[in-house]
Amino acid sequence: MAERSLTLMTVHAHPDDEATSTGGVLARYAAEGVTTVLVTCTDGRCGDGPDGVKPGEDGHDPQAVVAMRRAELAASCEALKVTHLETLDYADSGMMGWATNDAPGAFWNTPVDEAADRLAELIRRYRPDVVVTYDENGFYGHPDHIQAHRITMAAVERTDVPAKVYWTTVPRSAFQEFGKVMQEIGVEFPEPDATDEMPSLGLPDDEITTWVDTRAHGEQKFASLAAHASQAENIFFLRLGQERFTELMGMETFVRVRDRTGASTPEDDLFAGLR
Ligand SMILES: [Zn+2]
Repeated sequence: MAERSLTLMTVHAHPDDEATSTGGVLARYAAEGVTTVLVTCTDGRCGDGPDGVKPGEDGHDPQAVVAMRRAELAASCEALKVTHLETLDYADSGMMGWATNDAPGAFWNTPVDEAADRLAELIRRYRPDVVVTYDENGFYGHPDHIQAHRITMAAVERTDVPAKVYWTTVPRSAFQEFGKVMQEIGVEFPEPDATDEMPSLGLPDDEITTWVDTRAHGEQKFASLAAHASQAENIFFLRLGQERFTELMGMETFVRVRDRTGASTPEDDLFAGLR
């Protein structure tokens, strides 16, 4: 029987999301011979336009933004050596509360079942052993991230293909260092404080099941992020430079929410128990 290579599928909301939280695992596992599939759910039309035109400003042409971001996504995949890129091409819904949330074709405005059917078809085609997406809050509450979570969990449920499913997360122990670095590069970042929203972001270290060291692929991860240059104003990590970015973001962390392998946790490999 021909041996099938292991397959990793990451499901993301926008072009550029693949870089920050999963750029390292995409690059590392591709280098290890794993087939990697990136599913990007929206077209990113609510991003910055060429020359930095913001959504809602005069001259912000969604079609031009979509074309530019599509090319950037292709370059990012090239940097990460992604085997297959699949785009669902829903319209970017914009931030929570924007009028674009309710626009026809907006991802947030699409019934979960309908989008989950399309993703389930991709899961049946690629048969990923491991699927990665966001937690139920989309990590930070963006409607498209929440929707990506919902359709992924629904598609996994109806296909029952992946042996392991993960949500991306950030260890709360890293927040202090993170805050310090953000301050240094002039990005406003609220101090972690029990009274504000921050504690709902990320997880305590002992609830994180999976720590994957991707520092050896820092150059690729940074190149993937840099490929999304048109969104540079929002990608403050670029200001760190590659070396510090890798120091800060080289360990990618996940919480395992579905598992058929019985691999013990904490684990240091998304494919623990599968090879
Ligand atoms: Zn996003």
